Amino acid sequence: MTKSVSILILGAGGDLTKRLLLPGLASLLSVHDYDVQVLGAAREERTDEQWRQLIRDSFGQVTDPADADRFLESARYIVTPDVTDVARLQELIAACDHTPIIYFALPPAVTAAVCAALRQVDLPEGTRLALEKPFGTDLRSARALNRLIAQLVPEEQVFRIDHFLGMSMVLNILGLRFANQLFEAVWNGRRIERVEIVYDETLGLEGRGGYYDHAGALIDMLQSHLLEVLALVAMEQPPKLNEVELRSNAAQVLRATHVWDDDPVANSRRARYTAGKVGDRSLPSYADEPGVDPALKTETLAQVTVEIDTARWRGVPFVLRSGKALGEKVTQVRVHMRPVPEIPGFGGAPAPDSIMLDVKSGAVELDLTMNGSGDPFTLERSTLVAKKEPGDLLPYGQVLHGILDGDPLLSVRADMAEECWRIMGPVLRAWKKDEVPLEEYPAGSSGPEGW
Ligand code: NDP
Repeated sequence: MTKSVSILILGAGGDLTKRLLLPGLASLLSVHDYDVQVLGAAREERTDEQWRQLIRDSFGQVTDPADADRFLESARYIVTPDVTDVARLQELIAACDHTPIIYFALPPAVTAAVCAALRQVDLPEGTRLALEKPFGTDLRSARALNRLIAQLVPEEQVFRIDHFLGMSMVLNILGLRFANQLFEAVWNGRRIERVEIVYDETLGLEGRGGYYDHAGALIDMLQSHLLEVLALVAMEQPPKLNEVELRSNAAQVLRATHVWDDDPVANSRRARYTAGKVGDRSLPSYADEPGVDPALKTETLAQVTVEIDTARWRGVPFVLRSGKALGEKVTQVRVHMRPVPEIPGFGGAPAPDSIMLDVKSGAVELDLTMNGSGDPFTLERSTLVAKKEPGDLLPYGQVLHGILDGDPLLSVRADMAEECWRIMGPVLRAWKKDEVPLEEYPAGSSGPEGW
């Protein structure tokens, strides 16, 4: 039977809705059959017709725009001067023909204010809430937001979005680790020396200064996405692939994770880009980008080393790094193996083996030591490469799939969101006190020298 839902997007005039959410919905609806009413609410004046055109255009980015037509008749746009107004929220809910999914495409502080107002609104049975990252602005506000949400709907109806968890490659991490004998046998601190989780972008600010300058790379990327990837890389095998077991094992990893040596000054680095060229694009200094207040000292590149204090991982550094305006796009989990003892007759191996998982392209690369070509008494490095096709759905399509099905498997549970803030709290505090220097790197480079 076709499932019927109403998606009520609060903040429908923003970048997320246009660039990611509606195209993600298009990718989902071109593969799966749902009866979806799409409602938009924002301060901006816009007619139903203009909203329908936006939906059509978004579908056009992914599939035939005519595929949108069957959803357009019920689509509505409601001008909402104050999204925290209780009476207006009640009207928005009343405009939903089916069980509402309230999608908060809003800045975090506005999301919290709307949740507070929703306590006075009658929410229909089964209402789901989808909340974007960052979830709160620190541990205290995340806890407060969780308490507030718990007064609105049960936890199974709350979807804290992390679109990295919608990426098929992140799920592939579980397949690669647990569905064959080769990797799981060596997936521990006795065999692995170091793990790097890197998400380097070539894009600069792209007009999102208003948001980014109050977040920075640490909050925008490490505190959310990269810690979620770390949890998948490091977790014990869940007994079942369901929301309880998968998220419990991920939460267990996060609870055991702390900044290396509990010393955020020695084990974190931050930098921001200066003017430079990325490919043939010239970027201004971050400090000169529109919407940026240089006095906030917001970083565009962050690196933090953490330890997972479990029998499997104790003593293995996990290095998390992400930045903008870098010379090369790198979206990798790189697992460095410990060196082998010298092999009689061959001399030492050229370098320890490593396993690379590319979270974006889906490729897996194994750098292995093999006998030299020509002279088998020598050893040399060889790379085995496996390419994979991307998943059928865009990441936001996968996210929405879970929400429309009411399955929170790929969403972040309340305790996980809080743990991520707890882990990064000492780094945020050290940076606020200026205990870690803010370095610089030219846009288009690989980061500051010596990193
Ligand atoms: P935008 O800055 O583009 O704003 C989204 C909406 O928020 C706008 O429609 C705007 O409404 C509304 N808004 C802003 N301030 C207020 C206010 N004080 N009161 C009421 N409404 C307000 O944000 P994005 O669309 O980029 O992002 C939305 C959320 O999604 C954020 O939490 C962001 O962190 C997250 N996100 C965004 C991504 C992206 O690439 N854009 C990626 C991943 C997550 P109006 O149109 O009425 O002015």
